[in-house]
Amino acid sequence: MPDARDPVCGLEFPEEQAEALGAFVVHRAGKKHYLCSKACAEEFARRPQ
Ligand SMILES: [Zn+2]
Repeated sequence: MPDARDPVCGLEFPEEQAEALGAFVVHRAGKKHYLCSKACAEEFARRPQ
């Protein structure tokens, strides 16, 4: 399993733990992005693609 990396704060965690940790999953351009928190998910949503 590849590690998932939060593109906003850089936190890394095993992808299989993302759901258990309550990570936010954002689908963009056919890719899955994992965000550690709602705050990071909102920040990611504000960034240009
Ligand atoms: Zn984060």
